[in-house]
Amino acid sequence: MGVDALLYNSTRGREGGYTAAMAIAGGLAGDGGLFVPEEAPLLPEGAIDAMAPMRYEERAEYVLREFLDDFGGGELARYTREAYGTGKFDADGAAPVRSLAGGDYFLELWHGPTCAFKDMALQILPSLMTAALQKTGDGRDVCVLAATSGDTGKAALEGFRDVGRTKVIVFYPRDGVSDIQRLQMTTQEGENVLVAAVEGNFDDAQAGVKNIFSDARLRERLTARGVFLSSANSINWGRLAPQIAYYVSAYCDLVNNGSVGRGEHINFCVPTGNFGNILAGFYAKKMGLPIAKLICASNRNDVLTQFINTGVYDRNREFYTTTSPSMDILVSSNLERLLYEMSGSDGTAVNGYMEALAREGRYAVSGAVRELIAGSFECGSCTDADAGRAIADIFNRHGYLIDPHTAVAYEVLRRYRERTGDGAPTVVVSTASPYKFCGSVLDALGCGAGGADMIDALRAATGTVAPAPLTALRGKRERFTRTVPRGGMLAAVEEFCL
Ligand SMILES: *Cc1c(COP(=O)(O)O)cnc(C)c1O
Repeated sequence: MGVDALLYNSTRGREGGYTAAMAIAGGLAGDGGLFVPEEAPLLPEGAIDAMAPMRYEERAEYVLREFLDDFGGGELARYTREAYGTGKFDADGAAPVRSLAGGDYFLELWHGPTCAFKDMALQILPSLMTAALQKTGDGRDVCVLAATSGDTGKAALEGFRDVGRTKVIVFYPRDGVSDIQRLQMTTQEGENVLVAAVEGNFDDAQAGVKNIFSDARLRERLTARGVFLSSANSINWGRLAPQIAYYVSAYCDLVNNGSVGRGEHINFCVPTGNFGNILAGFYAKKMGLPIAKLICASNRNDVLTQFINTGVYDRNREFYTTTSPSMDILVSSNLERLLYEMSGSDGTAVNGYMEALAREGRYAVSGAVRELIAGSFECGSCTDADAGRAIADIFNRHGYLIDPHTAVAYEVLRRYRERTGDGAPTVVVSTASPYKFCGSVLDALGCGAGGADMIDALRAATGTVAPAPLTALRGKRERFTRTVPRGGMLAAVEEFCL
């Protein structure tokens, strides 16, 4: 641990000086902002050489130590080993890079128990949160709330199930998740879990959760019972920090196999929704990892593409339901952290943007901020049809199957290369197993509806292997079949926690 501990400030500028443990235990800052490190730690000289021979869990420990310096080294070693090194991930190395002929790289982040990248953070978040509560001397029980566009919910349920002194409640948009995603959640086991569908889309579910967080009366009643609310969404720094590790790890892998020279700059192309994944890439870049561009890929809900291109964030637009539901988001929470970083840690400016967003659904950043963002970020969007063609194309050429989210990124990268001629090695961040989205993937391959068992149909059509956690869904009892109206979320929380 350094002499000067790394402290965390709120993006709204009214709170600061929190330790990492306080930031993780708290989730959201008291002024409504998100916690950000006062200064991004720099990778020490020789860090890549040191990490290159390491296993994933050791690399993750290395990176986490830099950001969570009030956690002991031995402690983080244990958490990372338990999360990534004990057979919960079905690949050797929890986040392997797949190289295809012709120089395409895919960072596969879906080998965990729920088959999407959310496991990378949510397998370790319960340990970090439990430890954070101990460090801050908070004796209360936790109720973890999550709004999900499909993948966070299941990963949170799996991560927190039967963790002591913890309850976990997940809300998902009734018509906004795939059949497999829904089944994964409704069949969830564990004594401390609650799952409910919400009438509306993801933004409605997320807004409902934010309202619950700011409900003073609920907070009082929970406090009286020794319970406090925390979040499993990527607004929690404890979710962001573990994600930084896989960017560093991917770079190490590319150096190890000779795909990039030491110090050579690479790009990452990231299928983006709430801006949490790509923001972790930004912090990796701030640490000094040689990243040239972070390419932000959107589906038809291309509010981020528009923002990066014009400096205007405008959520007053039509919301589309797409084949990449985890990116069907119009309010990307983590963009707030980027605004803070890019406006010179100016909490007042961020506050202004967020107030305008709440009031008018829109804000415009200054030219200077826009240029700074353009220095690190590229962007692009594509339709479902484009993404479907990308799935077919890459499968036909390489026998490699990708999911619709990853396909959006792959297609956006193809166009970016065409447009700019940028030939730098670029890693596509692969965020879900194609077996989570059997219907869309079968459609893309021209295989029709697939009949009753879509997993079998996809297996038969492609000769690929289905992940065990998904084949195990067959015949499982659905425990949670309840749908609540938007206004009924609070009551559901009260009922479960009070
Ligand atoms: C959550 C998710 C995304 C979007 O990630 P953000 O961190 O919200 O930008 C993309 N793809 C999949 C499969 C996801 O589950």
